[in-house]
Amino acid sequence: MTAADRLAEIRKRIERAERIAGRATGAVTLVAVSKTFDAPDIAPLIAAGQRQFGENRVQEAARKWPALKEATPGIVLHLIGPLQSNKAAEAVALFDVIHTIDRDKIAGAIAAEAARQGRAPRCFVQVNTGAEPQKAGVDAREAVGFAARCREVHGLAIAGLMCIPPVEESPGPHFALLRKLAEEAGLAALSMGMSADFETAIDFGATHVRVGSALFGTRTAPAPSAA
Ligand SMILES: *Cc1c(COP(=O)(O)O)cnc(C)c1O
Repeated sequence: MTAADRLAEIRKRIERAERIAGRATGAVTLVAVSKTFDAPDIAPLIAAGQRQFGENRVQEAARKWPALKEATPGIVLHLIGPLQSNKAAEAVALFDVIHTIDRDKIAGAIAAEAARQGRAPRCFVQVNTGAEPQKAGVDAREAVGFAARCREVHGLAIAGLMCIPPVEESPGPHFALLRKLAEEAGLAALSMGMSADFETAIDFGATHVRVGSALFGTRTAPAPSAA
């Protein structure tokens, strides 16, 4: 199977899941997670029409994406990995969507950089739905208040919520919790679902699914993303 075949297959599965869930075709954005893969693997997906891509490390993305973005107008780059405030300037310059806002320091740094650079990245609050000590994200009980504080204190508009369920658990309850929190917070977007569970996530209302290995194949280099 070529990369274009895999993309067509995933798109078909997304459309089927949208239909089964009674949602509009195109309601779900496919974010192709290209971490650890380089331009020769990414280019065939761009050629096949994919425009939304996700990376989990600012440094790695800064090496790969400026040239790819330059070559193809309309690329939308998503940051899906943890963010340090000393990388805020670089992140705001490079990324169009940031899925991992999870503390006041980051929210403030991103808001300040967005104002300084005249950019307006769409932002998600990452929620640690499994309360895993090693994982990034705000506690579920703090998610609604934190999203409000992002807007009111930091002047950072939040589009939605994001989660990475614990690997050893059934993801459904985590997706349901994220949807409930987003409803409480009055937020429309839900970034949830990966290669193994994106159809389940769509059934629970995902608006953005982050699919890596099902599109690119197995990653060989380590890419810690849950930290
Ligand atoms: C790597 C990663 C993905 C994609 O995972 P796959 O299982 O390869 O689809 C999705 N979301 C985040 C936050 C990631 O770090």
